[in-house]
Amino acid sequence: MRDLLEVGLTGGIGSGKSLVVDYFARLGAATINFDLVAREVIARGSEGFDRVLARFGDEILTGGEINRAALAALIFDDRAARADLESIIHPLVRAAYADFCSVQAPHTIVVAEIPLLVESTYDYTFDRVITISADLAIRKERLAARGMSAAQIEARITAQGTDPEREARADFVIHNNGDIDSLLRNVEQIFAALVELNSGKN
Ligand code: ADP
Repeated sequence: MRDLLEVGLTGGIGSGKSLVVDYFARLGAATINFDLVAREVIARGSEGFDRVLARFGDEILTGGEINRAALAALIFDDRAARADLESIIHPLVRAAYADFCSVQAPHTIVVAEIPLLVESTYDYTFDRVITISADLAIRKERLAARGMSAAQIEARITAQGTDPEREARADFVIHNNGDIDSLLRNVEQIFAALVELNSGKN
């Protein structure tokens, strides 16, 4: 798309995605968060909002907005409901991502943060995939320091894939068991490799 280098970035909760994506942006990448986009495309007033309501009913509303936890509970055990929801949200996310790409300068390096890149049935076609791995104990400690309860952390981690599953899909693995300085150095190395790839591509 417009000669961009499109990179998907994933990692489990607490692996350091936000930090890494922010740093890629500082290095010059155009960044986008698919979780935020997925929220925006079903926000009240959008076409997605109307379609989700038509399928799942008013009981998923709280304070006039779609209650994402209620929606998640509805599809948790129901494959047909999950497929219906994905068939509403995925095309809208795809369109929003295409819009985002269409306004970037040619040869921009795009980094898309996608927490569930490996778990999703969405057909992602990135030029490269990066994943961030970190020991579970370290991730739990960082999330607890961020104010999450042990139960919340456990629930999120068990609902996600594992580091080896993400690594199997990735071209670059960032190991984030150390300090922030070594994390950022690792990001700098990968960004340099992406710049190199990008110049070979053009
Ligand atoms: P994610 O977006 O993958 O859930 P975050 O980037 O929010 O992860 O990181 C989780 C927490 O751990 C944040 O508070 C972040 O500042 C902290 N963190 C991430 N990497 C490190 C590190 N190498 N050293 C110390 N704290 C870190």
